[in-house]
Amino acid sequence: MNTVMVVGAGQMGAGIAEVFAAKGFHVLLHDQSKELAERGKLGIEGRLGRLLKKGYAKEEDVESTLKLIEPVFQLSEAARAELVIEAATENGEIKKQIFKTIDEFAPEGSIMATNTSSLPITDIASITSRPEQVIGMHFMNPVPRMKLVEVIRGLATSDDVYEEIMATSKKLGKIPVSAEDFPGFVSNRILMPMLNEAIFTLYEGVASAEDIDTVMKLGMNHPMGPLTLADFIGLDTCLSIMNVLHDGFGDSKYRPCPLLKKYVQAGWLGKKTGRGFFVYE
Ligand code: NAD
Repeated sequence: MNTVMVVGAGQMGAGIAEVFAAKGFHVLLHDQSKELAERGKLGIEGRLGRLLKKGYAKEEDVESTLKLIEPVFQLSEAARAELVIEAATENGEIKKQIFKTIDEFAPEGSIMATNTSSLPITDIASITSRPEQVIGMHFMNPVPRMKLVEVIRGLATSDDVYEEIMATSKKLGKIPVSAEDFPGFVSNRILMPMLNEAIFTLYEGVASAEDIDTVMKLGMNHPMGPLTLADFIGLDTCLSIMNVLHDGFGDSKYRPCPLLKKYVQAGWLGKKTGRGFFVYE
């Protein structure tokens, strides 16, 4: 496998593009517009530039990584890719539309993966003519730093596709773990209700945002408080995942906190918009 297309050049897509390029894959980085795809690459340049400045990266590695990332503006460019990884907004309709188009253009035998945090792989695969080629490849944020890849097989995913994605994850220096296709898989089924509960704790006035985070950092040894983590993930993404858990299990214990909904309505989506539970410069 040489050429990988990443669809969605946001925080996850850019991270995925960077780790593939760092391992020598040619990466086509796509977003809805020329500006967004190029902005995704600029973000990677900025991050690698900071690493270089601090002495954590070598100039030749940064150069060769950036050279391998090509911003592209048309989904039809999937015709050049052996693996397409979709990392667009966490919305089933958007993802299905993307998979429908990828299915038209991706060459026979290519793998179509989604980085969805929670949406059913089987459902996304059903829109394509080759559900056996569709799989979940769920990276963690920030992609260059986090070791885990959750690999989720849809009902029809073939053994070959599964083996190839497990092997590719290892080639990237990641540790793949297999999960069944149920809402939230393993990671977000456990993490997201905890973050939602932290938001309920704030909503009910039990403690301030700072104190909630301090309790979980100092008391539970979490590296980051839950409200900071929610801001970091993106509150729109958190809300989408809670809705998927709520709809998928039909259990009221997964109802999203009204305060989370209100923040998303306000466009306070966390770090990426400069404001969530905390304010970011
Ligand atoms: P983001 O908002 O940073 O980026 C999403 C990108 O998708 C944007 O650049 C947007 O322009 C693009 N996009 C939207 N519709 C598109 C379309 N039709 N075609 C092409 N591009 C399109 O979001 P993110 O945090 O990068 O999340 C992306 C995916 O990764 C989601 O499925 C999310 O659940 C998943 N994910 C997120 C995290 C996290 O911590 N944020 C972790 C793991 C997985």
